[in-house]
Amino acid sequence: MSKIVNIDWKPNKKSNEPVYKQIVNYMNKKVASGDWAIGNKLPAQRELAKAFNVNRSTVVMAIEELKSYGILEGLAGSGTVVAENTWSILMSSNETNWGSHLESGYFMESLPTIQTINEYEFVDKIRRLGTGEMSPKLFPKEYFNNALRKLSGEISSLNYLEPLGLESLRETIAKRMRSIGINANPKNVLITAGSLQALQLISICMLKKESTVYCEVPSYINSLRVFQSAGMRMKGINMDGEGIQYWNMKEENTNYDSVLYTIPTNHNPTGTTMSLNRRKELYSYCKANRIPIIEDDAYGELTFDKASPNTIKSIDESGMILYLGTVSKSFAPGLRIGWVVGPESVIERLGDVKMNVDYGASSISQLIINELFVNGDYDKFIVENKSRLRRRRDIMLNAMDKYFTEIGRWNIPEGGYYVWTELKDKISMEALFKNALSKKILLNPGYIYDIRNKNKFIRMSYIYLDEDEIEVAVKDLSIIIKEMKKS
Ligand code: PMP
Repeated sequence: MSKIVNIDWKPNKKSNEPVYKQIVNYMNKKVASGDWAIGNKLPAQRELAKAFNVNRSTVVMAIEELKSYGILEGLAGSGTVVAENTWSILMSSNETNWGSHLESGYFMESLPTIQTINEYEFVDKIRRLGTGEMSPKLFPKEYFNNALRKLSGEISSLNYLEPLGLESLRETIAKRMRSIGINANPKNVLITAGSLQALQLISICMLKKESTVYCEVPSYINSLRVFQSAGMRMKGINMDGEGIQYWNMKEENTNYDSVLYTIPTNHNPTGTTMSLNRRKELYSYCKANRIPIIEDDAYGELTFDKASPNTIKSIDESGMILYLGTVSKSFAPGLRIGWVVGPESVIERLGDVKMNVDYGASSISQLIINELFVNGDYDKFIVENKSRLRRRRDIMLNAMDKYFTEIGRWNIPEGGYYVWTELKDKISMEALFKNALSKKILLNPGYIYDIRNKNKFIRMSYIYLDEDEIEVAVKDLSIIIKEMKKS
């Protein structure tokens, strides 16, 4: 038998609020708080009138209103019960309704496909064939634990840090930057919570609304809303095998308010590395046209068989390049550590805003990564891990040769994470995404990086799946595509 709820309250007859409304609010709260559970029964109307010390007609009015919201329902033979309708509680409640606020912030919501990807990445047994982070199996547990062990004996506080980040880490990073030809001292370095935060800070501090952000097309940046949300216009520039075709950046910006965002090394998603020559030409062009450059070097340490070409920043004597580094792709994204290298005035301004945003990147992460840089384990891991990444790449390329030759073409990445695959025939990428999901394969459809080519490209990655899972996933995907083409 269902429980009959207990009435422990009476309306205030002296209040300006009608008595029946007070009863509605009381019952509403009891249901919303969970004190009254779904299926609980209300006392008979006569008893309710007595408990509330009101007329029966007042009780009837309150119950009818709650029935109209779906909160109560009258069941033949069992009186009035609490109904199964939590949504109507939200809608009828007098509490703050967040719905109207959700749309009013300036930051745009993620693309629906990205939202789905973000959600499915955590679904059990999902095969992440497009993902941009390393398999947990590649995580350097031993190096990491050694750093933790050492730090556990040393850390005596975890207070906030200097506005630009841990001094010793900035020194270490400045030294690392100098070792790759970038002229930097600690005052030129701001530690951020990943390079994504660096982009966010740059967009809110330095770029004007309605200015143009040039980028490669396709580009990782198109999968984000950082610049668009701040009111900037994205302008995609085509690439060839040597990188961005900078000469197509038509100068329409008489106010000199355009910037270029580029990923010159092991580009996301195409895997392209810009040639040294193109880097030099691009730099001269941007300098002549006063287009500052944001150089995103997230995959710069991940070229397999040779050194990556010099960064564009290393050619820069004028301070017009902001260089972004991160440990996310080469070590561990969950540390949330990245850095910006730029002129002191810019770094100070970004650091000041960062203090307003989060008062600094995680102190513990900064200490850990500094230890790993200084004791040499970070660099050891990079070298060791390259051969694992190369082997995974080869497994994927072999599988692609076996199963995709008929249906697509792709790049041969020399580093980074991605095989950018172009299908020979267009197919509905949304349908493919869904069909793949039904076989537990999570894809990154190309349109999230280049909306112009909706139904042709897929970003595949060899970085997350186990070696023996890569071939099976590639094969299963090829079967899905071939079947879709038949129907
Ligand atoms: N830049 C590029 C090119 C990336 O691919 C990513 C991650 N996918 C990021 C930046 C963001 O990295 P972080 O974790 O450092 O914010």
